[in-house]
Amino acid sequence: MSTGESTGNGSVVVVNCGSSSVKLALVDPVTGERALSCLGERLGTPDAVVHFKTAEGTRTITPAATTHRGALAHVLQRLLDMDLPPLLGVGHRVVQGGKRFRSSVRIDDHVLADISDLSALAPLHNPANVSGIEAARAVLPELDHVAVFDTAFHQTMPEQAYRYAVPTRWYEEFGVRRYGMHGTSHRFVSARAAEVLQRDAGADPRSLKLVVAHLGNGCSATAVLGGRSVDTTMGMTPLEGLVMGTRSGDLDPAVLELVADRTGASVAEIVAQLNKESGLLALSGLSNDVRTLEEKAGQGHPGAKLALEVFTYRAAKHLAALTVALGGLDALVLTGGIGENGTAIRSALLGRLRHLGLVEDPAANAEHGRSSTPAGRITREGDGPLAMVVPTDEELLIARDTVDLVQHA
Ligand code: ADP
Repeated sequence: MSTGESTGNGSVVVVNCGSSSVKLALVDPVTGERALSCLGERLGTPDAVVHFKTAEGTRTITPAATTHRGALAHVLQRLLDMDLPPLLGVGHRVVQGGKRFRSSVRIDDHVLADISDLSALAPLHNPANVSGIEAARAVLPELDHVAVFDTAFHQTMPEQAYRYAVPTRWYEEFGVRRYGMHGTSHRFVSARAAEVLQRDAGADPRSLKLVVAHLGNGCSATAVLGGRSVDTTMGMTPLEGLVMGTRSGDLDPAVLELVADRTGASVAEIVAQLNKESGLLALSGLSNDVRTLEEKAGQGHPGAKLALEVFTYRAAKHLAALTVALGGLDALVLTGGIGENGTAIRSALLGRLRHLGLVEDPAANAEHGRSSTPAGRITREGDGPLAMVVPTDEELLIARDTVDLVQHA
């Protein structure tokens, strides 16, 4: 993450509040520069710490309050005491926006109540997002606050993509359907890819067929047709789809019955294990971190090898499936910590997708080894589809949506 000078017009406070952590950044909506970024960890416990990063360096403090909300209020208060660019507004990342929120919105009491009501669909995320909004509104009441939803970009999915084949009552009364997540990243990356492809290949962004793979700790892929999401791999919650760092991805739901029967665990406990103790971590028995797994696989560790194989096989299978939603493919776009930095994983994915006409350019792929590398192609020149790497920047999109809404208020 870069820190540096702002344009002088001010910056947006971008808040991403999780259940035990909070990420906060002061983002210049024009340049994307960060005047400050901050990470609070283990909030709500006596071991809570907050790391601040500015152009002057990094600093770690122990927040005076140990509650989650108190710690966030403390961090925001510290911000106000610093010599920083003027604040234009506050943008909050919110995970679940349900059917109601198809785009970002200014937050008032009604919007906040709706976000809170959507907690049934996202019990791990929306309550934390709500506490973040409440704490920030209390400390910065004079600023406009904006909610940017992970699900909003996927509200353009057609019914054939978002409906589960389950009893209709579950859908109509409980909202059980696919919503999709990581929408801010997929939106940012697909727009950037369309810009680059228009510039470099004269492509028409209105008809572009993109599959965007966001591969980080959480992983999802989206089919984007002419700038609109038409299908995505995450479902009602982030648990569906690809294998992730600690999440299982797709699973036969009957597994829950068997495990509950054998272990006596509740459904909630099993779902927590599927979220936090599965994925690469479980398959390898080692780590959820791809770098560690690559190192250990290189030394012959069977669990690490298996984890990486299942990960790339499942990802490639989903990426190919998403071309059905598009009726073809112009470009596969890779992003997230693994997509931007993982040369070997990218190579393995392309190797499994050769039949779609994607042929790796090993030299170009090796070049894209650092997140600071700009967007660029990693397949050979030719008539078929191409693959490219596009670094994501969800905070910048949140900052831009925030100023857009504040200026049009
Ligand atoms: P989050 O979803 O938490 O934002 P990131 O997008 O930062 O996560 O992605 C984290 C993942 O990226 C980890 O699995 C990490 O191992 C992987 N990663 C980071 N750098 C590299 C690298 N050079 N090669 C392979 N994987 C990498």
